[in-house]
Amino acid sequence: MSAIVEGFREGLKQGELRIQTCNACGTHILYPRHRCISCGSDDLGWTVASGRGVLHTFTVVRAVPPEGFEDELPYGLGVVKLEEGVQLMARLWPATDGSGWDGYACNAPVVFSPSDAASVDKRPVAWFAPAAV
Ligand SMILES: [Zn+2]
Repeated sequence: MSAIVEGFREGLKQGELRIQTCNACGTHILYPRHRCISCGSDDLGWTVASGRGVLHTFTVVRAVPPEGFEDELPYGLGVVKLEEGVQLMARLWPATDGSGWDGYACNAPVVFSPSDAASVDKRPVAWFAPAAV
């Protein structure tokens, strides 16, 4: 049995951010469901998202991580509202210049910035970076 999130995970492995979409009414659904949240249809598929969104809120975890995340400290976590109207929790890339997550701000634009397939196998999560404005 394939997990309901398989389409999302497969997209991440291919460098795509996919949103579950109702084939009957076009509603975007995230997180994935077995039925459309708008019309109840079970005819659901996947759409590749634009990858553009706004950072609703975020935090940087620097201590006392959940079990299994100890070797990833520090790391940035945020809630991203995609322009397709759905939102998801995502990881945030730190800046490569050593400034960490200083470049992020609430309500600022962010863009999907995929990690490699090996990383997705370990932890199937979407990664975002600040969008060039
Ligand atoms: Zn629907």
